[in-house]
Amino acid sequence: MSKTLKIALIRGDGIGVDVAEAAMAVVDVATRAVGLPDLVRDDIAAGAGYFAKTGRDIESDGEDRAGAADAIFLGAIGLPSIRAEDGTEISPHLRLRDRFGLYAGVRPVKAYPNAPQRLADPRAAGIDMIILRESTEGLFYSAAVHKRSEIIGDTEVRETLRISRATSEKLFDFAFRLAERRRERGKSGMLTCVDKANVFASMAFFRKIFNEVAGKYPEIEVGYNYVDAMALDLVRQPWAFDVMVMENMFGDILSDLAGGLVGGMGMAACAEIGDENGLFQPAHGSAPDIMGQDKANPLAAILSGGLMLDYLAERSGIAGYTDAALLVDRAVERGFDANRLRPMEFGGDMGTKAVTREVIEQIG
Ligand code: ATP
Repeated sequence: MSKTLKIALIRGDGIGVDVAEAAMAVVDVATRAVGLPDLVRDDIAAGAGYFAKTGRDIESDGEDRAGAADAIFLGAIGLPSIRAEDGTEISPHLRLRDRFGLYAGVRPVKAYPNAPQRLADPRAAGIDMIILRESTEGLFYSAAVHKRSEIIGDTEVRETLRISRATSEKLFDFAFRLAERRRERGKSGMLTCVDKANVFASMAFFRKIFNEVAGKYPEIEVGYNYVDAMALDLVRQPWAFDVMVMENMFGDILSDLAGGLVGGMGMAACAEIGDENGLFQPAHGSAPDIMGQDKANPLAAILSGGLMLDYLAERSGIAGYTDAALLVDRAVERGFDANRLRPMEFGGDMGTKAVTREVIEQIG
Protein backbone atom coordinates (compact mmCIF):
# COMPACT_ATOMS: atom_id res chain seq x y z
CA MET A 1 0.00 0.00 0.00
CA SER A 2 1.45 3.36 -1.01
CA LYS A 3 1.98 6.07 1.52
CA THR A 4 -0.55 8.91 1.26
CA LEU A 5 1.02 12.20 0.27
CA LYS A 6 -0.23 15.63 1.24
CA ILE A 7 -0.59 18.74 -0.92
CA ALA A 8 -0.89 22.24 0.51
CA LEU A 9 -3.33 23.98 -1.83
CA ILE A 10 -3.35 27.77 -2.04
CA ARG A 11 -5.96 28.75 -4.62
CA GLY A 12 -5.31 32.48 -4.17
CA ASP A 13 -6.95 35.21 -6.23
CA GLY A 14 -8.66 35.83 -9.56
CA ILE A 15 -8.25 33.09 -12.13
CA GLY A 16 -5.88 31.35 -9.69
CA VAL A 17 -8.93 29.88 -7.98
CA ASP A 18 -10.32 28.37 -11.19
CA VAL A 19 -7.08 27.08 -12.65
CA ALA A 20 -6.05 25.53 -9.31
CA GLU A 21 -9.38 23.65 -9.26
CA ALA A 22 -8.75 22.51 -12.82
CA ALA A 23 -5.23 21.30 -12.02
CA MET A 24 -6.37 19.40 -8.93
CA ALA A 25 -9.17 17.69 -10.87
CA VAL A 26 -6.69 16.52 -13.50
CA VAL A 27 -4.12 15.43 -10.90
CA ASP A 28 -6.80 13.37 -9.13
CA VAL A 29 -7.83 11.61 -12.32
CA ALA A 30 -4.20 10.89 -13.26
CA THR A 31 -3.26 9.46 -9.84
CA ARG A 32 -6.36 7.25 -9.81
CA ALA A 33 -5.62 6.07 -13.35
CA VAL A 34 -2.28 4.65 -12.18
CA GLY A 35 -3.85 3.09 -9.08
CA LEU A 36 -2.43 5.48 -6.50
CA PRO A 37 -4.45 6.76 -3.54
CA ASP A 38 -5.85 10.30 -3.71
CA LEU A 39 -3.49 13.02 -2.57
CA VAL A 40 -4.66 14.50 0.73
CA ARG A 41 -5.30 18.22 0.46
CA ASP A 42 -4.72 20.93 3.02
CA ASP A 43 -6.48 24.11 1.86
CA ILE A 44 -4.67 27.24 2.95
CA ALA A 45 -6.38 30.60 2.61
CA ALA A 46 -4.03 33.31 1.31
CA GLY A 47 -3.88 36.19 -1.11
CA ALA A 48 -5.23 39.65 -1.73
CA GLY A 49 -8.87 38.69 -1.20
CA TYR A 50 -8.00 37.05 2.12
CA PHE A 51 -5.96 40.13 3.09
CA ALA A 52 -8.91 42.44 2.33
CA LYS A 53 -11.11 40.36 4.65
CA THR A 54 -8.70 39.64 7.49
CA GLY A 55 -5.72 42.02 7.30
CA ARG A 56 -3.42 38.98 6.93
CA ASP A 57 -2.00 37.73 3.61
CA ILE A 58 -2.00 34.07 4.69
CA GLU A 59 -3.62 32.07 7.51
CA SER A 60 -1.62 32.40 10.73
CA ASP A 61 -0.27 28.83 10.57
CA GLY A 62 -0.41 28.73 6.75
CA GLU A 63 3.34 28.92 6.12
CA ASP A 64 4.07 26.09 8.57
CA ARG A 65 1.38 23.90 7.04
CA ALA A 66 2.68 24.63 3.55
CA GLY A 67 6.16 23.61 4.67
CA ALA A 68 4.90 20.37 6.24
CA ALA A 69 3.17 19.18 3.05
CA ASP A 70 4.86 16.99 0.42
CA ALA A 71 4.24 19.71 -2.16
CA ILE A 72 2.62 23.13 -2.39
CA PHE A 73 0.28 23.99 -5.26
CA LEU A 74 -0.60 27.62 -5.85
CA GLY A 75 -3.14 29.14 -8.27
CA ALA A 76 -2.16 32.82 -8.41
CA ILE A 77 -1.82 35.57 -5.85
CA GLY A 78 -2.36 39.32 -5.96
CA LEU A 79 -4.92 41.82 -7.19
CA PRO A 80 -3.76 45.28 -8.29
CA SER A 81 -6.70 46.89 -6.49
CA ILE A 82 -5.72 45.48 -3.07
CA ARG A 83 -2.38 46.59 -1.67
CA ALA A 84 -0.39 46.56 1.54
CA GLU A 85 0.18 49.84 3.39
CA ASP A 86 3.46 50.53 1.57
CA GLY A 87 1.68 50.29 -1.80
CA THR A 88 3.09 46.90 -2.83
CA GLU A 89 0.89 44.00 -3.95
CA ILE A 90 0.05 41.19 -1.57
CA SER A 91 2.68 38.47 -2.06
CA PRO A 92 2.95 35.81 0.68
CA HIS A 93 4.24 33.37 -1.94
CA LEU A 94 7.50 35.35 -2.18
CA ARG A 95 8.00 34.71 1.54
CA LEU A 96 7.43 30.99 0.94
CA ARG A 97 10.15 31.06 -1.73
CA ASP A 98 12.59 32.70 0.69
CA ARG A 99 11.64 30.69 3.75
CA PHE A 100 11.88 27.31 1.99
CA GLY A 101 14.88 28.26 -0.18
CA LEU A 102 13.17 27.43 -3.47
CA TYR A 103 16.24 28.15 -5.59
CA ALA A 104 15.46 26.05 -8.68
CA GLY A 105 12.82 27.72 -10.86
CA VAL A 106 11.86 25.29 -13.62
CA ARG A 107 10.05 26.69 -16.67
CA PRO A 108 9.33 24.14 -19.40
CA VAL A 109 8.76 25.58 -22.87
CA LYS A 110 7.16 23.23 -25.37
CA ALA A 111 5.42 23.68 -28.71
CA TYR A 112 2.13 21.85 -29.11
CA PRO A 113 0.46 21.10 -32.44
CA ASN A 114 -2.37 23.51 -33.31
CA ALA A 115 -1.25 25.92 -30.56
CA PRO A 116 0.18 29.28 -31.64
CA GLN A 117 3.61 29.08 -33.19
CA ARG A 118 5.29 32.47 -33.42
CA LEU A 119 8.21 31.49 -35.63
CA ALA A 120 7.74 30.74 -39.33
CA ASP A 121 10.50 28.12 -39.46
CA PRO A 122 8.86 24.66 -39.37
CA ARG A 123 11.49 23.45 -36.90
CA ALA A 124 9.69 25.62 -34.30
CA ALA A 125 7.19 22.76 -34.01
CA GLY A 126 9.97 20.85 -32.24
CA ILE A 127 10.63 23.39 -29.49
CA ASP A 128 10.91 21.48 -26.23
CA MET A 129 13.24 22.96 -23.64
CA ILE A 130 13.58 24.01 -20.03
CA ILE A 131 14.68 27.32 -18.63
CA LEU A 132 16.11 26.84 -15.17
CA ARG A 133 16.10 30.11 -13.30
CA GLU A 134 17.88 30.50 -9.97
CA SER A 135 15.16 32.05 -7.84
CA THR A 136 16.53 33.19 -4.49
CA GLU A 137 19.50 35.45 -5.29
CA GLY A 138 21.04 36.89 -8.49
CA LEU A 139 19.83 40.41 -9.24
CA PHE A 140 16.58 39.75 -7.36
CA TYR A 141 18.66 39.58 -4.16
CA SER A 142 17.99 43.28 -3.79
CA ALA A 143 14.53 43.33 -5.39
CA ALA A 144 12.27 45.86 -3.69
CA VAL A 145 10.50 43.21 -1.60
CA HIS A 146 13.77 42.40 0.25
CA LYS A 147 14.47 46.06 1.01
CA ARG A 148 18.18 45.64 0.23
CA SER A 149 18.54 48.39 -2.37
CA GLU A 150 21.09 51.07 -1.56
CA ILE A 151 19.16 54.29 -1.94
CA ILE A 152 21.34 57.37 -1.86
CA GLY A 153 18.86 60.18 -1.33
CA ASP A 154 17.22 61.19 -4.55
CA THR A 155 20.44 61.00 -6.56
CA GLU A 156 21.31 57.34 -6.95
CA VAL A 157 20.11 53.81 -6.34
CA ARG A 158 22.36 50.75 -6.33
CA GLU A 159 21.26 47.13 -6.50
CA THR A 160 23.23 44.01 -5.63
CA LEU A 161 23.62 40.93 -7.81
CA ARG A 162 24.50 38.08 -5.48
CA ILE A 163 25.96 34.76 -6.59
CA SER A 164 26.83 32.41 -3.74
CA ARG A 165 28.83 29.20 -4.02
CA ALA A 166 26.39 27.26 -1.84
CA THR A 167 23.29 28.10 -3.89
CA SER A 168 25.08 27.84 -7.24
CA GLU A 169 26.43 24.37 -6.46
CA LYS A 170 22.94 23.17 -5.58
CA LEU A 171 21.45 24.85 -8.65
CA PHE A 172 23.97 23.23 -11.00
CA ASP A 173 23.57 19.83 -9.37
CA PHE A 174 19.84 20.19 -9.94
CA ALA A 175 20.48 21.29 -13.54
CA PHE A 176 22.70 18.32 -14.35
CA ARG A 177 20.28 15.84 -12.75
CA LEU A 178 17.46 17.40 -14.77
CA ALA A 179 19.55 17.08 -17.94
CA GLU A 180 20.20 13.42 -17.07
CA ARG A 181 16.47 12.77 -16.69
CA ARG A 182 15.77 14.50 -20.00
CA ARG A 183 18.38 12.28 -21.67
CA GLU A 184 16.75 9.19 -20.20
CA ARG A 185 13.51 10.37 -21.78
CA GLY A 186 15.03 10.65 -25.23
CA LYS A 187 15.91 14.37 -25.32
CA SER A 188 19.42 15.63 -26.00
CA GLY A 189 19.97 16.58 -22.38
CA MET A 190 22.44 19.29 -23.41
CA LEU A 191 22.92 21.81 -20.61
CA THR A 192 23.75 25.42 -21.50
CA CYS A 193 25.16 27.82 -18.92
CA VAL A 194 23.77 31.28 -19.71
CA ASP A 195 25.73 34.15 -18.18
CA LYS A 196 27.72 37.29 -18.89
CA ALA A 197 31.04 35.90 -17.75
CA ASN A 198 32.95 38.20 -20.11
CA VAL A 199 31.85 41.31 -18.21
CA PHE A 200 30.90 40.56 -14.59
CA ALA A 201 33.02 38.95 -11.88
CA SER A 202 29.82 37.49 -10.39
CA MET A 203 29.04 35.79 -13.70
CA ALA A 204 32.61 34.51 -14.15
CA PHE A 205 32.21 32.99 -10.68
CA PHE A 206 28.86 31.48 -11.74
CA ARG A 207 30.50 29.84 -14.76
CA LYS A 208 33.49 28.66 -12.70
CA ILE A 209 31.19 26.81 -10.31
CA PHE A 210 29.21 25.44 -13.29
CA ASN A 211 32.44 23.94 -14.65
CA GLU A 212 33.38 22.48 -11.27
CA VAL A 213 30.01 20.75 -10.95
CA ALA A 214 30.14 19.63 -14.61
CA GLY A 215 33.12 17.45 -13.67
CA LYS A 216 30.72 15.16 -11.77
CA TYR A 217 28.54 14.61 -14.85
CA PRO A 218 30.93 13.75 -17.71
CA GLU A 219 28.18 12.17 -19.82
CA ILE A 220 26.19 15.43 -20.06
CA GLU A 221 27.04 17.66 -23.03
CA VAL A 222 27.50 21.26 -21.92
CA GLY A 223 27.33 24.55 -23.78
CA TYR A 224 27.84 28.21 -22.90
CA ASN A 225 26.03 31.29 -24.11
CA TYR A 226 26.20 34.92 -23.07
CA VAL A 227 22.74 36.14 -22.19
CA ASP A 228 22.50 38.56 -25.11
CA ALA A 229 23.47 35.83 -27.58
CA MET A 230 20.98 33.53 -25.85
CA ALA A 231 18.17 36.02 -26.53
CA LEU A 232 19.17 36.01 -30.19
CA ASP A 233 19.35 32.21 -30.32
CA LEU A 234 15.97 31.81 -28.65
CA VAL A 235 14.48 33.54 -31.67
CA ARG A 236 16.91 32.17 -34.28
CA GLN A 237 17.15 28.49 -33.28
CA PRO A 238 15.37 27.62 -30.02
CA TRP A 239 15.05 23.98 -31.14
CA ALA A 240 18.83 23.61 -30.71
CA PHE A 241 18.61 23.90 -26.90
CA ASP A 242 17.45 21.55 -24.18
CA VAL A 243 18.16 22.81 -20.63
CA MET A 244 19.45 26.33 -19.97
CA VAL A 245 20.54 27.43 -16.50
CA MET A 246 20.94 31.07 -15.48
CA GLU A 247 20.74 33.66 -12.71
CA ASN A 248 17.42 35.04 -11.53
CA MET A 249 16.97 38.19 -13.63
CA PHE A 250 18.20 36.62 -16.86
CA GLY A 251 15.77 33.77 -16.23
CA ASP A 252 12.93 36.17 -15.52
CA ILE A 253 13.34 37.79 -18.92
CA LEU A 254 14.28 34.81 -21.07
CA SER A 255 11.55 32.53 -19.67
CA ASP A 256 8.88 35.00 -20.80
CA LEU A 257 10.55 35.37 -24.19
CA ALA A 258 10.69 31.59 -24.56
CA GLY A 259 7.09 31.21 -23.35
CA GLY A 260 6.00 33.68 -25.99
CA LEU A 261 7.44 31.44 -28.72
CA VAL A 262 4.93 28.68 -27.97
CA GLY A 263 1.73 30.49 -27.10
CA GLY A 264 1.14 32.69 -24.12
CA MET A 265 0.98 32.87 -20.35
CA GLY A 266 -1.78 30.26 -20.23
CA MET A 267 0.75 27.59 -21.24
CA ALA A 268 3.59 28.64 -18.90
CA ALA A 269 4.00 25.99 -16.21
CA CYS A 270 6.41 26.50 -13.34
CA ALA A 271 8.02 24.55 -10.52
CA GLU A 272 10.06 26.12 -7.72
CA ILE A 273 12.13 23.57 -5.92
CA GLY A 274 14.37 23.66 -2.85
CA ASP A 275 16.14 21.04 -0.76
CA GLU A 276 13.05 20.04 1.21
CA ASN A 277 10.07 21.69 -0.50
CA GLY A 278 8.55 22.19 -3.92
CA LEU A 279 6.00 24.78 -5.01
CA PHE A 280 4.08 24.42 -8.27
CA GLN A 281 2.12 27.15 -9.98
CA PRO A 282 1.27 28.55 -13.37
CA ALA A 283 3.73 31.33 -14.23
CA HIS A 284 0.88 33.75 -14.94
CA GLY A 285 -0.83 36.01 -12.42
CA SER A 286 -4.42 36.35 -11.29
CA ALA A 287 -5.51 38.06 -14.57
CA PRO A 288 -8.31 40.14 -13.00
CA ASP A 289 -9.49 41.22 -16.47
CA ILE A 290 -10.85 37.74 -17.18
CA MET A 291 -11.58 36.42 -13.67
CA GLY A 292 -14.91 34.75 -12.98
CA GLN A 293 -15.74 34.44 -16.69
CA ASP A 294 -14.60 30.87 -17.40
CA LYS A 295 -12.15 32.29 -19.95
CA ALA A 296 -8.79 31.44 -18.37
CA ASN A 297 -6.63 28.82 -20.00
CA PRO A 298 -5.99 26.25 -17.23
CA LEU A 299 -3.24 24.41 -19.11
CA ALA A 300 -0.34 26.19 -17.39
CA ALA A 301 -1.80 25.10 -14.05
CA ILE A 302 -2.54 21.59 -15.32
CA LEU A 303 1.00 21.19 -16.67
CA SER A 304 2.31 22.50 -13.33
CA GLY A 305 0.26 19.72 -11.73
CA GLY A 306 2.19 17.31 -13.97
CA LEU A 307 5.49 18.78 -12.73
CA MET A 308 4.24 18.31 -9.17
CA LEU A 309 3.50 14.62 -9.81
CA ASP A 310 7.03 14.16 -11.18
CA TYR A 311 8.44 15.83 -8.08
CA LEU A 312 6.33 13.62 -5.81
CA ALA A 313 7.75 10.56 -7.60
CA GLU A 314 11.27 11.64 -6.82
CA ARG A 315 10.48 12.74 -3.29
CA SER A 316 8.56 9.61 -2.30
CA GLY A 317 10.35 7.05 -4.44
CA ILE A 318 6.94 5.92 -5.71
CA ALA A 319 7.41 5.45 -9.46
CA GLY A 320 3.66 5.53 -10.12
CA TYR A 321 3.68 9.31 -9.77
CA THR A 322 6.02 9.52 -12.78
CA ASP A 323 3.48 7.52 -14.77
CA ALA A 324 0.73 9.87 -13.61
CA ALA A 325 2.84 12.87 -14.68
CA LEU A 326 3.35 11.34 -18.11
CA LEU A 327 -0.41 10.78 -18.41
CA VAL A 328 -1.01 14.50 -17.85
CA ASP A 329 1.63 15.55 -20.39
CA ARG A 330 0.42 13.09 -23.01
CA ALA A 331 -3.22 14.10 -22.50
CA VAL A 332 -2.33 17.72 -23.31
CA GLU A 333 -0.20 16.66 -26.25
CA ARG A 334 -2.92 14.38 -27.66
CA GLY A 335 -5.66 16.94 -27.06
CA PHE A 336 -3.81 19.56 -29.10
CA ASP A 337 -2.83 17.05 -31.75
CA ALA A 338 -6.49 16.10 -32.32
CA ASN A 339 -7.46 19.79 -32.21
CA ARG A 340 -9.72 18.98 -29.27
CA LEU A 341 -7.99 21.56 -27.02
CA ARG A 342 -8.93 25.01 -28.26
CA PRO A 343 -8.41 27.50 -25.40
CA MET A 344 -10.08 30.91 -25.71
CA GLU A 345 -6.67 32.44 -24.98
CA PHE A 346 -5.67 31.36 -28.51
CA GLY A 347 -8.92 32.45 -30.11
CA GLY A 348 -10.61 29.08 -29.57
CA ASP A 349 -14.06 28.28 -28.27
CA MET A 350 -13.15 26.49 -25.02
CA GLY A 351 -13.24 28.07 -21.58
CA THR A 352 -11.56 26.85 -18.40
CA LYS A 353 -14.07 24.11 -17.67
CA ALA A 354 -14.25 22.75 -21.22
CA VAL A 355 -10.44 22.57 -21.52
CA THR A 356 -10.24 20.77 -18.17
CA ARG A 357 -12.93 18.28 -19.18
CA GLU A 358 -11.11 17.53 -22.41
CA VAL A 359 -7.77 16.90 -20.67
CA ILE A 360 -9.56 14.52 -18.30
CA GLU A 361 -11.22 12.81 -21.25
CA GLN A 362 -7.80 12.37 -22.90
CA ILE A 363 -6.40 10.70 -19.78
CA GLY A 364 -9.38 8.43 -20.25
P1 ATP B 1 1.59 39.12 -12.35
O1 ATP B 1 2.35 40.39 -12.16
O2 ATP B 1 1.06 38.56 -11.08
O3 ATP B 1 2.30 38.10 -13.19
P2 ATP B 1 0.05 40.38 -14.40
O4 ATP B 1 -1.22 41.14 -14.23
O5 ATP B 1 1.28 41.09 -14.82
O6 ATP B 1 0.28 39.50 -13.13
P3 ATP B 1 -1.09 38.11 -15.57
O7 ATP B 1 -2.08 38.07 -14.51
O8 ATP B 1 -0.19 36.94 -15.74
O9 ATP B 1 -0.16 39.35 -15.50
O10 ATP B 1 -1.84 38.33 -16.91
C1 ATP B 1 -1.57 39.24 -17.94
C2 ATP B 1 -2.66 39.06 -18.98
O11 ATP B 1 -2.47 37.84 -19.69
C3 ATP B 1 -4.00 38.91 -18.30
O12 ATP B 1 -4.56 40.15 -18.10
C4 ATP B 1 -4.76 38.02 -19.23
O13 ATP B 1 -5.42 38.76 -20.20
C5 ATP B 1 -3.68 37.16 -19.85
N1 ATP B 1 -3.60 35.85 -19.17
C6 ATP B 1 -2.80 35.50 -18.15
N2 ATP B 1 -3.01 34.24 -17.78
C7 ATP B 1 -3.96 33.76 -18.60
C8 ATP B 1 -4.61 32.51 -18.72
N3 ATP B 1 -4.32 31.49 -17.92
N4 ATP B 1 -5.56 32.37 -19.67
C9 ATP B 1 -5.87 33.38 -20.49
N5 ATP B 1 -5.28 34.59 -20.43
C10 ATP B 1 -4.34 34.79 -19.50
